[in-house]
Amino acid sequence: MTDSATGRDEGISEGRIETLRAVRGMNDIFPDEAEVWLSFEAIVRDWLARYGYRNMRTPLLEHTALFRRSIGAVTDIVEKEMYSFTDALNDEHLSLRPEATASTVRAAVEHSFLYGGPQRVWYTGPMFRHEKPQRGRYRQFHQVGAEALGFAGPDVDAELLVMCARLWSELGLTDIRLQLNSLGNLAERRAHRAALVRFLTDHVADLDADSRRRLETNPLRVLDSKNPAMQSMIEAAPRLLDFLGDESLRHFDAVRAMITEAGVAYDVNPRLVRGLDYYNLTVFEWVTDRLGAQGTVCGGGRYDGLFEHIGGKPTPAAGFAMGVERLIDLMRGADRLPAVRLPDVYLVHMGERADRFAIRVGEALRDARLAVLTHAGGGRFRDQMKRADASGARVAVIVGDDEADAGQVSVKDLRSGEPQTAVALVDAPGFIRRLTAQAQSTPQTGTT
Ligand code: ATP
Ligand code: MG
Repeated sequence: MTDSATGRDEGISEGRIETLRAVRGMNDIFPDEAEVWLSFEAIVRDWLARYGYRNMRTPLLEHTALFRRSIGAVTDIVEKEMYSFTDALNDEHLSLRPEATASTVRAAVEHSFLYGGPQRVWYTGPMFRHEKPQRGRYRQFHQVGAEALGFAGPDVDAELLVMCARLWSELGLTDIRLQLNSLGNLAERRAHRAALVRFLTDHVADLDADSRRRLETNPLRVLDSKNPAMQSMIEAAPRLLDFLGDESLRHFDAVRAMITEAGVAYDVNPRLVRGLDYYNLTVFEWVTDRLGAQGTVCGGGRYDGLFEHIGGKPTPAAGFAMGVERLIDLMRGADRLPAVRLPDVYLVHMGERADRFAIRVGEALRDARLAVLTHAGGGRFRDQMKRADASGARVAVIVGDDEADAGQVSVKDLRSGEPQTAVALVDAPGFIRRLTAQAQSTPQTGTT
């Protein structure tokens, strides 16, 4: 809360006003960059629609208990990455969402969303994790996620993977590889866990402090450790895959056969356990070498137990979440950035009657679907024309009092050096369209 008596927390001390900055690890996205986000989002929306996934939105704040129960109390996210606080007004324990699968399932259970049958949904938005900020790792970051709720078969697991592969290709991204594993069922994980605990206990000297603690609480998590010093020991640990029974193996094999049919290549990674507790059977990550240490762009899998954990009926489900910042970083590296949309028209106006007429001109051109940047703030004709050139618009539409009186505009092609042409306002959209159509038929740089 703000110490309003002293103004200290408002950055005011002894009359000096400090510059306020964004919270560490949280990014401002300016228009040039936001253009890339919009184009990414447009591709994503179209892609999801083609697979029948429907958009869904849940709150950014949830009860902390939701994440403790779903993600698991003994995970990096819940132990040290959540923005949790007590709402002073009613003593509720709340957290900013670190991911959105838990919220999606919570909402589905709360509102009997699966009453009429299974549902495919997707979401996008900011997630919050108190991590050490670095390239590809932020405290507020964004995910696009898809969840297939109420589907048990390996077919939707395969669908989710095939979908991802298609998105990478539609984004123009190569060099993203699929790592696949199966976590089996509860009994299989228990049997593996017993063997793993025996193994880790024998190698306790090689474990870091986190892993020693996890040996007691959640030994599978030890396999998820990124500590380089422990990798060779982790390599030698008992593999969960070797504990799978027939049913789990059949599921795994079916997923593999279907994605192979679709031409999706993968590697089986028996060490892949994912950072959250709720997964079973299929788990996967899409990884690239092009982003340094933050190479995982998407992760997901099957979470058949989650509905029950949250108080719902047993309901099979699977999904994935991808990191938007990491994918956009990859798009930049792959030179797949969209062309910035430039205005078609810069509207220059001078004179009292012209200033009023210009409002009408702008609206008439926009009625014809043209993008019009209207000069604002007055100034000399020459300066307005300079702004017109700098705007990147193809055409300047010029209005003076004479034009206003005649119901005309002057159109100047900013790239041809041709003299301007006077046209009636009603004819202006067609005239400008013909000029911009010519511009479009000449190849532009920067388009993809
Ligand atoms: P990592 O191992 O990189 O921490 P994670 O396993 O914690 O990832 P998930 O919870 O599976 O990540 O989230 C799915 C995706 O969201 C990740 O693959 C990644 O692309 C992205 N992501 C996760 N945490 C961050 C973060 N702090 N900043 C940016 N992107 C992130
Ligand atoms: Mg993480």
